[in-house]
Amino acid sequence: MLTTLAAVVAMASANPADAQDARLAAAKKAAEQIRAEEIRRDVDYLASDANMGRRTPHPGAPSPGYDSAAAYIAARLKTLGIKPMGDSGTYFQHYTVTRSTLDTTKVSAAIGAEPLQWGDDFVVNNFLIGGMREANVIYVGNGTRLLKQGVDPYAGFDIKGKWLLVNAPTAGGGRATAAAGGAAPPNVGRGGVPPGIVGVDYTTISEVARHGGALGIILVPTPALLARWTRAATVGQDLNPSVGIAYAQFQVPRIVLTAAALRRLLAGTGISADDVLAADSLGRYPASKDLGKRLKVDFVATVVEARPYNVVGLLEGSDPRLKEEWISLAAHLDGAVPAAASVPGNALPDQYNAADDNASGSAGNLAIVRALLAGPRPKRSILLIWDSGEEVGLWGTRTIAYGPWSEKLVLHVSNDMIGKSRPANSARNGELSAPDTIYITGPKVLSTNTEANLQKALKEFPFIKTDRVYEDIGSSFFYPRTDAGPYLERGILIMQFFNGSDSDYHRPTDEPQKLDIAKIVAVSKLSYGALWIAADDVNRPRWDGIVPSTLWWVTPKR
Ligand SMILES: [Zn+2]
Repeated sequence: MLTTLAAVVAMASANPADAQDARLAAAKKAAEQIRAEEIRRDVDYLASDANMGRRTPHPGAPSPGYDSAAAYIAARLKTLGIKPMGDSGTYFQHYTVTRSTLDTTKVSAAIGAEPLQWGDDFVVNNFLIGGMREANVIYVGNGTRLLKQGVDPYAGFDIKGKWLLVNAPTAGGGRATAAAGGAAPPNVGRGGVPPGIVGVDYTTISEVARHGGALGIILVPTPALLARWTRAATVGQDLNPSVGIAYAQFQVPRIVLTAAALRRLLAGTGISADDVLAADSLGRYPASKDLGKRLKVDFVATVVEARPYNVVGLLEGSDPRLKEEWISLAAHLDGAVPAAASVPGNALPDQYNAADDNASGSAGNLAIVRALLAGPRPKRSILLIWDSGEEVGLWGTRTIAYGPWSEKLVLHVSNDMIGKSRPANSARNGELSAPDTIYITGPKVLSTNTEANLQKALKEFPFIKTDRVYEDIGSSFFYPRTDAGPYLERGILIMQFFNGSDSDYHRPTDEPQKLDIAKIVAVSKLSYGALWIAADDVNRPRWDGIVPSTLWWVTPKR
């Protein structure tokens, strides 16, 4: 018996499974819209010398190169008819970055009515926002909770809004995670940390103060802190208001007292200043206590602000209910560029292009948008993000992940460095992947159904193989080193595509002519397929896997 084509189509649409197969077939066809020609054009523009590596605008340092690149993406989105999600009907979502410089001629402090002299009695170790801070002081020993032993120096105290006086030999700089090689867990110094894993075995003063809403930290002087004692003005710079943990500057201000000032603070409290000063070397700390004294510090500062921005748009989903659930597709548009190299006309020996990191992902995601528009519209909505500030502190993603959109986001897909390959038969160069391989992190350890969807994508969009070696919660590429960090902190699943870094990473030699355009095409096709399948699945992506110990405070979206 012969069947007409019309009859086949009618039968297919009568059966939901067949209809879904037809949608997938159409999505596969749409992947052909991801072409080398357009990717070459986009990546060459974004990574052109004229854009100077697209440094994020900083306080006091505008960046015409970033502006040009952002305008280019916005113009493409407008041509494609993507809904703008930025400020006042534009594609540009601004946020504020503040640089505060302590005015050392005006900063002041007092214990009760007794003034403390800046530079003689105390210095400011860290602060972000100026202003007066006044509250009671609680002594909390070394401030470290030993979770398995049940040691909790905060037990019985409400630390919210209070100053915490602490012996914290490891509390040092102002950043939660060092920008370079930031493998250390957040908020933990390099030396002298307790044995074990943060979040599993212990938590530190910085984390407890932050999550508990403490007003500030007073550090007992150590030889190391006294050796670094300086009257130079402290500078703080971060998002304002600062949100997030990974790469955030500590929001809780810290001051250091001299031993003499500490004696004044502890006088008459029943805690011996000698015992406190000797505690680190003895490994024995006096019991925690509310000192019953008030400390007032006026962090007078001069402030310079910048208003960097992300480029954002929305592709609305096709299902009336599921379109309220969003999946983000992100690439950071900014590059890692020294301040001087982003100033036009500044004579520099080196020209930054930030081609693989991350003009590659930025151009790939533009191609994915073209495929999404050509294929069947997935049921869920896709939030399209080209973010800024990734290279300086995840500013753009911290803004989004801690903003109202995070309520809707169920999965974050990111393409960060997808355009470089180790030449066939060549020696290893860092962890750079081969031309037929891309690293993926996230689904395997976090989510059963998202991993199943990824496996389906690998079968249906077999353009490139994957290596899951960084699918390891202990890997810094998992957390906190990438733009995915803030989403993880908010309990949002992630899926990251990444080619591995090599000797050109963050250097002027990260140039567009070194890119493997065929690889960007292949990764973009797979990434599109994985995104489409997850966005079109009636089942929501669920984080039912492990929670990394470095994210002990996180409640995953199950
Ligand atoms: Zn990057």
